[in-house]
Amino acid sequence: MYKLRSEHISRRLFWSMIIIALSLLFLSVPLIVSSYHSYQKADRALTEISALRAVADLANKISRERAPANKVMSSSVDELEENIKELEAYRKEVDLQIEQTSAILATAGFSVQAQALSSHVKGALAQGRHAVDVYSALPRSERSARQLDQAIQQMFKAWDSCKAIIENVLVHSEAKGTSVSDYYTLILILADLRDQAGRTASNIMAAVTFNEKIPEDNLARSLQTQHQAHYLWALVNTIQPEQDKTPEYLALHQQVKAQFLDQGIPIVTRLMNESIHNQAYSLTGTQLTEAIVDKFLTVVNLQSYILDYSVTVAQTQKKQAQQKLILTLLVALICLVAVSFTMIYARNHVFIPLLKARNTILRLAQHQVIESKQTPLSAKRITLLDALTELKRVLQQRDALEFQLRNIANTDNLTGVSNRLALEEYIRYLENKPNQFKHTGLIIIDIDDFKHVNDTFGHIVGDEVIKLIAEKLQLNVRASDLIVRYGGDEFLVLIEHINFPEAWAIANKILQEIGRSELYIAELNQNIRVSVSAGVVVGGASWMSLLEKADKSLFQAKQNGKNAVAG
Ligand code: GH3
Ligand code: MG
Repeated sequence: MYKLRSEHISRRLFWSMIIIALSLLFLSVPLIVSSYHSYQKADRALTEISALRAVADLANKISRERAPANKVMSSSVDELEENIKELEAYRKEVDLQIEQTSAILATAGFSVQAQALSSHVKGALAQGRHAVDVYSALPRSERSARQLDQAIQQMFKAWDSCKAIIENVLVHSEAKGTSVSDYYTLILILADLRDQAGRTASNIMAAVTFNEKIPEDNLARSLQTQHQAHYLWALVNTIQPEQDKTPEYLALHQQVKAQFLDQGIPIVTRLMNESIHNQAYSLTGTQLTEAIVDKFLTVVNLQSYILDYSVTVAQTQKKQAQQKLILTLLVALICLVAVSFTMIYARNHVFIPLLKARNTILRLAQHQVIESKQTPLSAKRITLLDALTELKRVLQQRDALEFQLRNIANTDNLTGVSNRLALEEYIRYLENKPNQFKHTGLIIIDIDDFKHVNDTFGHIVGDEVIKLIAEKLQLNVRASDLIVRYGGDEFLVLIEHINFPEAWAIANKILQEIGRSELYIAELNQNIRVSVSAGVVVGGASWMSLLEKADKSLFQAKQNGKNAVAG
């Protein structure tokens, strides 16, 4: 049979662990890489959404410049100076924001768009402002609705160029495929919605201000923006993920419907109808602006909310991706540490001690090998099991020797039956039992006139007689009974759990058997016979009392003429 040596197991375990560690690396590295990519994407999404929000904010700011511009264009002579100051201040704010947004775009990696912002948007805005300034500089008598409308339309163009940048940033965004991608679209739509909302009134503003009929073109544009606003409003709700429709969002979305679509737009529609039916306008230009501004604010609020929310979502996504990355790294690290620890622990606390134990066992075994026919085994070639088998073999050998030695010490060397040493051990054993000698039967057997045998036939024949008696005793008692050569020609038979009649019967049987036996003496060519006497006793308070009683009985048997049993 092929056996695994400890060294083999140790080496195999080591390689298994290496394979496990490599497999772990194989599994964890792609996971770590993918988690890292997700994290990078989430990080990128946050940067991009923040950049988009900055551009959307700027677009709003540009869109809102129409308000102070309109104010200047429709102001009376008294208000003009103050309104121009207000417009100048606002324009500075817008210019500053263009610079800031440009810097944000450049930092976010949108340098082309940053450049476009500085050139196109600024250019378009400069044109719009120029148109506003030109109109404002005209004496009132020379002003016309067409000129006012042109100035308004020029300002729209500035916004258009800003929207183009939002679209461009979107096209070049790398993290569109992430779970925040919906917000990219939402930001664009909301920027659009916000501007369309602003345009619904602006398209008729010039005509209303001059109390003129609204040109067909403007009517068409205004209608278009109204439809567009409705459409975009519905689209926002379709795109907004269901789980992100917070109560706040729902309220804001509903407010756009209730305030702007249901109340604000009808004001414009009413003025349009008045124009179509050649009726006098129910509102002046300024009143129209004031009436629609509040309603329009709901669109701005919804847009601001979504912009903030999209950044929060992107931040949460980034945080989650970061946590996932850390967790993946941590789990991979824990697994590797656990494998390494198991490897080192198994080596130091299992295999090295096993090898040491094997060597110790082997040394122990080899030290005790007595007359081993096997050549000493080299420690390097055998297994722990081999060492244990060897030790077991040596211990069995030692047990056998010990048994032999004990037998020699406890056996009478002439007859092979037990000697007094064995008897003493047996007595000690009985003394420890609960009933001690209560049911112990003792038969003392003594050869009759043995001196005579010795004197007549010599000691060698005497020894043969003693051996014959021992043989006859062995034949007549059970193996579990103890036969002891107690003295020269005296034997004891100890029988456990016996009653007197039984013991008596055994003694008699022994006597008869010996009486019938003949011992052939070759030198004399004759058979001799011997007899024995026996004393029988069953049960005693102690060994001494048992022995004394048996001894008395034997004495009695001898007194009774020998070849007799007494009890
Ligand atoms: P009794 O019938 O009264 O027992 O008379 P006995 O002659 O047998 O007397 P006793 O039992 O006292 O004698 C024992 C003799 O046994 C004394 C001794 O010489 C002899 N003897 C003791 N040990 C041995 C032995 O190992 N071999 C031989 N041949 N004789 C022994
Ligand atoms: Mg005798």
